[in-house]
Amino acid sequence: MNKKKDIRALTKEQLRDVFIDNGDKAFRGNQVYEWLWSKSLYSFEDMTNISKETREMLEANFVINHIKVDSMQRSKDGTIKNGIKLHDGFIVESVLIPTPKRTTACVSSQVGCSLDCKFCATSRLKRMRNLNPDEIYDQVVAIDKQSRLYHNHKLSNIVFMGMGEPLMNYNNVIKSIEKITSSEGLGMSPKRITVSTSGVPKIIKKMADDEVKFNLAVSLHSAIDEVRTTIMPFNKNFPLKDLKESLEYWYEKTQRTITYEYIVWKGINDRKEDIQALIKFCSYVPCKVNLIEYNPIDDGEFQQASSSAINNYISNLEMHDITVNVRRSRGKDIDAACGQLANKS
Ligand code: SAH
Repeated sequence: MNKKKDIRALTKEQLRDVFIDNGDKAFRGNQVYEWLWSKSLYSFEDMTNISKETREMLEANFVINHIKVDSMQRSKDGTIKNGIKLHDGFIVESVLIPTPKRTTACVSSQVGCSLDCKFCATSRLKRMRNLNPDEIYDQVVAIDKQSRLYHNHKLSNIVFMGMGEPLMNYNNVIKSIEKITSSEGLGMSPKRITVSTSGVPKIIKKMADDEVKFNLAVSLHSAIDEVRTTIMPFNKNFPLKDLKESLEYWYEKTQRTITYEYIVWKGINDRKEDIQALIKFCSYVPCKVNLIEYNPIDDGEFQQASSSAINNYISNLEMHDITVNVRRSRGKDIDAACGQLANKS
């Protein structure tokens, strides 16, 4: 017996060929493509402008693998955390984060994560597999629906800050963004998309070569190799010198500012020299710093630094004309905050 193929793994041209080979018109392929992507339909039966015969042909040869919202929790602050079931049963998480002016989808790029950041709950899950482009796309579609339903407007922004390291699944992430930004997909602006990475220098350079149009955020957390390696052990293989060089390359090619994400922890990176190292790192390429509130993952090893330590960071950065934002955490009561996604699930 022939195993049915995942129809959304086909390009538009390949889909058109399916119809031509079947003695049908190529434009039938365009119609089905539209149902599959911009209309995000998950059943052949509901493709109302396609004849019954053709729908049966599709049904016999293809499947539409798609995600399902398996669980949904709403936080007091309006944040929604979704447990997303993939066609093979794995669960990833996607979050809707509302603010008065916008709604942001925080999407996953891998089942589990390939990295081992000590402060992140996802790192406790082994990386099981990469997400396919359609699985990333579907998360955005699901969150957009929730945005319209609960906040009366369409989704405005996307951040790749859910489970996984997007640059370790680069090809699929790029393909998903192509579909999300295409007029044949969701037609969103790449300026409203941010890919967040722990920093894989080779891929950062590749992104620059590929002239991607979305924003880049780097989870820095320390600008001192010894410190960064203790909290983000993969830093051993991708030291700050290589990261710096790749970011300079990125800026030279794209002229786009980089955002550094940074958490200040008690006794880890709250010293004067930590601040000085960050200021120096910020001098390499135009950037801004987001100081993120730490979300405990309940083993007590990491604790948010005192407000005076954080204020020290802010005043020193500002003294050097570095833009710094303090990011309050959202959805904490439902473990939907950064780095908490894998908690209790
Ligand atoms: N792998 C990517 C994207 C996923 S993590 C990356 O590293 O950027 C998304 C963001 O959440 C990163 O900035 C990460 O450093 C941060 N984060 C992880 N665990 C956290 C925690 N417990 N509290 C606050 N932020 C956390």
